[in-house]
Amino acid sequence: MTPYAAATATDASATPILLAIGLLVLVGYGVSCWIWPFRACTRCDGAGKFRSPSGRTWRYCRRCGGKGAQLRLGRRIWNGLKR
Ligand SMILES: [Zn+2]
Repeated sequence: MTPYAAATATDASATPILLAIGLLVLVGYGVSCWIWPFRACTRCDGAGKFRSPSGRTWRYCRRCGGKGAQLRLGRRIWNGLKR
């Protein structure tokens, strides 16, 4: 057996395992997006608002509407698929 043939044989047997691992990661990510659909807003770091230098006044973050949360990408895809 040539080294080339051995390499292809290994690749052929490893492909289903890699596919299974990829699927498992995908399912795990999907489940995590289902349980924890939000992540902290990148603009305000999850605070939901920006304080003025005085600290007494603030404005709400426009990106997340003051919630400080953003829907995760996986959840957004899930919502799009459901529709
Ligand atoms: Zn925000």
